[in-house]
Amino acid sequence: MGMGKNKYSNKNILLMLDALSQVFLTNTRALEALYVINGLKPVARMSFSENYVPVIRNFCQNNNLAFETSDFKIMMNFKGNYSTKGSIVPADDSVAGHLFVYISMKDELAGKAKQAEAKQNVGEFGRLLGYPSCCVDFFKRNKPDEEKKSNDYVVPAMANSRGNVFSYYNNIFGRYFDLVLLSHCPCSFDCKKSIGLARKHEETISNYDGELKERIKRFLKSAVIYRDGAVYLMNNYVFDNKTVRFLNITATKRDDFYDLLSRNRKINANEHHFLLFE
Ligand SMILES: [Zn+2]
Repeated sequence: MGMGKNKYSNKNILLMLDALSQVFLTNTRALEALYVINGLKPVARMSFSENYVPVIRNFCQNNNLAFETSDFKIMMNFKGNYSTKGSIVPADDSVAGHLFVYISMKDELAGKAKQAEAKQNVGEFGRLLGYPSCCVDFFKRNKPDEEKKSNDYVVPAMANSRGNVFSYYNNIFGRYFDLVLLSHCPCSFDCKKSIGLARKHEETISNYDGELKERIKRFLKSAVIYRDGAVYLMNNYVFDNKTVRFLNITATKRDDFYDLLSRNRKINANEHHFLLFE
């Protein structure tokens, strides 16, 4: 066995998902790293509190992964575990913030992703992150509008979708709860290319951690209400044409609506717009 990249071919202990989760702190980021290591994704871009970035840098150095950081940092606005918005300051600003890190198996790709993001070259950036071209085009088209709004692309994706029953692979709402198979918002909830990508991700996860794979799948098979920017995700549901009944609810907001849902464990489907993932 040679040096460098070949060390990944024999399932080095550091590739165990547990170890990745400890270093990368969330499932979502650990999985992004796993996809990069397994050649499913050219580059992963993640944000970390700037104090934590040296931990990631060390990990990448010790494991022959290419690593770059953004020349700017961000003051994040969080929604659950997930942040879609923030304000930008230079990396050397004294205010504490988050940096973007770019991780790849190839040095030149991490650098290219950093440049593409800095220059706001959306097409190139999306391609480097391994997103389907239809979804990159969708992102590009909706960017001006989304930047003024929630910046999560959910509303235009819903507008592009037919019906309201979709494959759980495209349930992007799991991102708010750190259980998700895609890192981009699909161009529609029936985007075939995104389903294909999510399926590959799931296969890879199951090679390392069958239990996590099942946990993600169970979570994503859910009824979702997206209302005023908040996500209400209901598991173990049945739908009988008029009513959605469910056992569990998770939400990004603990408001009156959340209380109502958790009290009743059912809701009239005519009164609310649902997305059903199965
Ligand atoms: Zn697409």
